[in-house]
Amino acid sequence: MRIYYLKTMVCIFFVSTFFFVSSVNAQLNYLKSIKKIDIHTHISSDELALKEVLDALNVKMNTVCTGGRNLDRMNASRKTAKKITREHPRYYSWITTFDVSKRNEPGWADHVITQLKKDFENGAIGVKVWKEIGMSIKNGQGDYIQIDDPIFEPIFEFLSKENKPLLAHIGEPIQAWMPARPGTYWDRHPDFSFWDKPDRPSYNDIIAARDHVIAKYPKLRIVGAHLGSIEFDVEEMSKRLDSYPNFALEMGGRTRYFMWQARERVRRFFIKYQDRIMFGTDRGGGLLNWQGEPKTDTEREENIKGLLKRYDIFMRYYATDENIPWGDKISSDEPLGDAKYMVKGLALPKEVLKKVFYDNAVNWFPGVEESFKNE
Ligand SMILES: [Zn+2]
Repeated sequence: MRIYYLKTMVCIFFVSTFFFVSSVNAQLNYLKSIKKIDIHTHISSDELALKEVLDALNVKMNTVCTGGRNLDRMNASRKTAKKITREHPRYYSWITTFDVSKRNEPGWADHVITQLKKDFENGAIGVKVWKEIGMSIKNGQGDYIQIDDPIFEPIFEFLSKENKPLLAHIGEPIQAWMPARPGTYWDRHPDFSFWDKPDRPSYNDIIAARDHVIAKYPKLRIVGAHLGSIEFDVEEMSKRLDSYPNFALEMGGRTRYFMWQARERVRRFFIKYQDRIMFGTDRGGGLLNWQGEPKTDTEREENIKGLLKRYDIFMRYYATDENIPWGDKISSDEPLGDAKYMVKGLALPKEVLKKVFYDNAVNWFPGVEESFKNE
């Protein structure tokens, strides 16, 4: 890795802070200065260049384990998360997940609970469930298993009792039920593209199953990943937040959906639910790619560059009222490339910024602040 190149990028990021002199810039400088937690990342290994960026940005990343359909992948991701968290607690914390490949075998839930207990002893601050539940895995009769299926009851009861939060990525943005545009996530992952597949569960059924679980376990704190897959309308998010005090949201990779909605409504939403929304990027980091192979120098540089660019744009969007260029790519929070239109930043008050970027993560995922506490 060309360290000099990275250091230059980090420097440019910081120097750029001082070019703007406006009233809301005080909020941007404030946001840059405070400790921030990125609650939704996927880190494949420790990485020096990544830690330099996290120092420069004053960020700690929470890495989220995945791979419940593939035991080997899941165990590899748990092992890495446990290791980097133990060795570098200033930079990383972790959320575990559990196997669903043996879901139809007797004793499965007991095995899951045993594994989760071990993970909590090893510092895991919560548990993730992924959209494979609802959209992919089936029971012995060949029906899709939804998240409110009785097989998960012992696990949710255990988490309630242990007071461990559930990070729930259930469902997909509604675009998954529409024709997949070329180049989008659903174009590349046809398994999760449900357009014109009448045998697949509907968007509403999946979201309703998730809501049943929130209602059924009022003592289980549930954080809806990716804005709870109801990202297209702050009114839909508000309805759930009003109905379920045990529910909160993290925005991993979905900032663009706020940008697409009426600014004043989004701003009011943030002010009203300032204790229930968490910052997350859903970005990857570390020396390995998604397939577990070493990244090339170029891939590592691109990754760091993308991370800096996103942090810059997200901080400007939430903290200032600047006009921010935004591309129209639908597949990810993609601020690079072809900016087609401008959106005005939300200019959230300092106290709201602090909650969204730090306090709420600490309150909803106790332990995430380990070795990274605000004085
Ligand atoms: Zn993710």
